Amino acid sequence: MPTTIDEIAQHVAHGVPLPRFSASITFDDAYANVVTNALPLLESSGFRGTLVAPAGLIGANGLLWNDQIHALVDERPDLLDRASSELGLDAVDSAHQSVYALKNVPDELRRCTIQKLEDWSGLSGYPDSGSSRVCTEDELKKLIDHGWSIGSHTLTHPMLARLPDAEARREITESRERITELVGERPAGFAYPDGAFSEKHVQMVRKAGYDFAVTTAGRLTDSSQPRHSLSRVYPQPTRSRFICTVTGFEQRLRGMLRL
Ligand SMILES: [Zn+2]
Repeated sequence: MPTTIDEIAQHVAHGVPLPRFSASITFDDAYANVVTNALPLLESSGFRGTLVAPAGLIGANGLLWNDQIHALVDERPDLLDRASSELGLDAVDSAHQSVYALKNVPDELRRCTIQKLEDWSGLSGYPDSGSSRVCTEDELKKLIDHGWSIGSHTLTHPMLARLPDAEARREITESRERITELVGERPAGFAYPDGAFSEKHVQMVRKAGYDFAVTTAGRLTDSSQPRHSLSRVYPQPTRSRFICTVTGFEQRLRGMLRL
């Protein structure tokens, strides 16, 4: 039965059972193609979704930092060697590997590296971002008009564990305020970037006033889960695998086999 993650979180908070087969669909990162592609498709099937937005990028014509790296390296593949030799990063031979490597360094080094890549590229701006474009303020409001909810996904999508605590707290609290300014409604939900967090981040999210938060743990949500670390399952490449996932069959099987 289609519902929203906000409604599921309310049921979890009050220990009220959900109707059987309740499900909601969430989209992280606020790509604009959710509005152009997913909204009409889901609406035709009676679904409303939830989109979690990196609030600092909305209306700033910005790209998520991982998409910035892909855009820069697509234009100038030679930047990778220079980043490895001059910034002391591990050698990488693709934008994908660079993004992965930068998730594991202090956030200040990540930001410095991207700034250097921009400077070295000589490009005056990012090329047409196409499918990587992040939603505008009007597109977020359009989703709300269609019954969707908007959650927060920090301001700039950093890895929270790579930030000093004060910066992590700022990303969590100020993004809530920014989303409220943008769409006129307080976001009830928060999603941890990359699904990476620790207990101190859970407490920050709780103190910031969010009603719930979601992870990328790859399990079905149930009422035993803490409200500020609700799990989700991923889309699957085939219909049969999708059915196994959303019905809980795969999860039960894994439990039986202790996988
Ligand atoms: Zn994300």
